[in-house]
Amino acid sequence: MPTKKLFIMSEEKSLNFIEEIIEKDLAEGKHETITTRFPPEPNGYLHIGHAKSICLNFGLAIKYGGSTNLRFDDTNPVTEETEYVESIKEDIKWLGFNWANEFYASDYFEQLYQFAVKLINKGLAYVDDSTSEEIAQQKGSPTIPGVRNKFADRTIDENLQLFTEMRNGKYADGKKVLRAKVDMSSPNMHMRDPILYRIKHAHHHRTGDKWCIYPMYDFAHGQSDSIEKITHSICTLEFIPHRELYNWLIEKLEIFPSHQYEFARLNVTYTVMSKRKLLQLVNEKHVTGWDDPRMPTICGMRRRGYGAAALRDFCDKIGIAKRENLIDIGLLEFCVREELNKIALRRMVVFNPLKITITNFDKDVEFVSIEDNPEDENTTHRQVPFSKEIYIEQDDFMEVPPKKYFRLFPGGKVRLKGAYIIQCDEVVKDNAGNVVELKCTYFPESKSGNDTSGIQVKGTLHWVSIAHAVNAEVRMYDRLFKVENVAEAERDFKDYINPNSLEIINKVYAEPALAKDSFDQRFQFLRKGYFCLDKDSTTDKLIFNRTVTLKDTWAKEVKKVN
Ligand code: ATP
Ligand code: MG
Repeated sequence: MPTKKLFIMSEEKSLNFIEEIIEKDLAEGKHETITTRFPPEPNGYLHIGHAKSICLNFGLAIKYGGSTNLRFDDTNPVTEETEYVESIKEDIKWLGFNWANEFYASDYFEQLYQFAVKLINKGLAYVDDSTSEEIAQQKGSPTIPGVRNKFADRTIDENLQLFTEMRNGKYADGKKVLRAKVDMSSPNMHMRDPILYRIKHAHHHRTGDKWCIYPMYDFAHGQSDSIEKITHSICTLEFIPHRELYNWLIEKLEIFPSHQYEFARLNVTYTVMSKRKLLQLVNEKHVTGWDDPRMPTICGMRRRGYGAAALRDFCDKIGIAKRENLIDIGLLEFCVREELNKIALRRMVVFNPLKITITNFDKDVEFVSIEDNPEDENTTHRQVPFSKEIYIEQDDFMEVPPKKYFRLFPGGKVRLKGAYIIQCDEVVKDNAGNVVELKCTYFPESKSGNDTSGIQVKGTLHWVSIAHAVNAEVRMYDRLFKVENVAEAERDFKDYINPNSLEIINKVYAEPALAKDSFDQRFQFLRKGYFCLDKDSTTDKLIFNRTVTLKDTWAKEVKKVN
């Protein structure tokens, strides 16, 4: 059971264990420079876990003046698609990294085939006709040694001929495999004559129908590393048991000695981190697609308005671990807010309107100048129309206020952001007794920036001029899952989907500047949260995604429950 890791916010950083290894290797002259790789299988879109691996591999190369290859691990023809290749490249570039070379494991198929022939010639590989059930049965168990079958005794010539025939398409899927001859009684099950090649008459997204035999992961990954002279091949912990075979194959093939190092994969609370599960969410329409803003994919986060710098910052803050753990999604949201606070343009949007008529305001319109971002000392300003009829939020008014209520109430005064102080004189209700309008007066000497009125108020409200407001839709996102540790929850992960992860507010009222802002802008809707335009927006209909709340409201909820 992974323990939940609390944030480590210390600025001072010691070397992580991989950096220690690299510095030692460089100091001892084992390598002149380092080469890393990021090796995605193009069978889905990248998620935040991949971002961790990308930041690690590219980050190490940048730190030590080396380079990083992007290698598509496309050895499984059935699940791979060009669409995924393109999305992976787009996501890595967006994260801010450049690969030295773009390689495909499938480019090495001929070379890998020759490696296999070399093993056969050394008496270290054989063609086995057993069914997969027989192979599994003969393999034994961790406590019971496996047994070799009669096919292991085939001569080198026989094996060479059969392997050529396999390549030439003489046999149907599953009829034969090529296995390494290692050790059937090894305590490491991966060493018990592992399968190197299987027959699969399938179309490959790059090699087409040229091949009908495909190398297994263990006979492609380390060999590809070696071909590219990767010095530090970094993968996740589940590959620890593969390392012995990785080394055995490199040694027997007498090729460049790449080394494998393992770190703990990233797990994040309230989400799932496996392409297979994410694909299920897409296919079964629990989300609108891979880039649904609730998805933990890089494209989903980008669409939601998360910044690349925030993702890199997050990956940096969590560091790398040797043991499985679970990272609080609140840390990612913290990084997202930190970045947005610095760059987001402040805008006023009323979600749930209450009309105010300012009875003593006689002009058609007055433009008030409001800063775009008070966090930026060089902030620009925009001109916001102020007029006789405006909207404020319904919940910024209470007819019978509690003590210390700083918003509006009968007889009370508040400041309208960037404009004037107003006083509530009269409450207008409909027949059912609902408050439908407030009649207010404003104080002309109280204008923001030039206030000579001497009136003290504690509350400042956001507002929009009704005549100038533009309508928009906002999409409010919440966690996709209801439980922290989805992967380890009792039932199927889909049983824990949060039914309220998306709330759509069809019609909100926004200040007119928002109609002119662009897709790459980030916004803070005052007192509401951070937002960005969604790609579904049209010129007729603005749609905003809530990227993240202003504060961590979820943490408060959890506290309440406990
Ligand atoms: P998934 O289980 O989500 O399908 P995967 O490991 O099969 O992931 P690959 O495309 O094979 O996905 O992964 C490419 C690289 O990203 C590998 O080096 C892998 O170790 C790394 N990676 C994948 N998931 C994570 C994660 N959650 N944390 C850190 N690294 C990851
Ligand atoms: Mg994989």
